[in-house]
Amino acid sequence: MKKITILILLLFTSLNVVVSQNKNYQKEIDMTKKKVEKTDEEWRNILNDEEFRVLREKGTEYPHTGKYNLHFENGVYNCNGCKTPLFNSDQKFESDCGWPSFDDAINGSIKYVEDYSHNMIRTEIICVKCDGHLGHVFNDGPTDTGKRYCVNSVSIDFNKNSNKE
Ligand SMILES: [Zn+2]
Repeated sequence: MKKITILILLLFTSLNVVVSQNKNYQKEIDMTKKKVEKTDEEWRNILNDEEFRVLREKGTEYPHTGKYNLHFENGVYNCNGCKTPLFNSDQKFESDCGWPSFDDAINGSIKYVEDYSHNMIRTEIICVKCDGHLGHVFNDGPTDTGKRYCVNSVSIDFNKNSNKE
């Protein structure tokens, strides 16, 4: 009996370690709120042509041109379509790939979709609330997570030191 108690204690201790190793995020996405659904016409009213092409038609901005590519201020990067917080600035790292790069995302903010276009197998990343196209995630990141979220600048909107949604 004593052995079993020790075993259970050990199990809980190791579980705690796994949980505490997870990064603490500023916030998680509240999925009880409704999804953002708009018609193409409604999106065109709030997005410019380039934003519409990337976010709604899965386009890609030209590399090394986006305004957040080499942007390193403290704050939160929201979805440019529906303003859902997607990335914290401490998840951003400098990458020479030509697009804003993050090693992780705010919990629950991203949906992952297998993408077989352009004769490649990639994982597309989209906003969980409005399904807006953000970019792709790759397994060649230089940090502990090993991930590189490669994101179009026009898909995101920076909010300096903001803690509100
Ligand atoms: Zn969105």
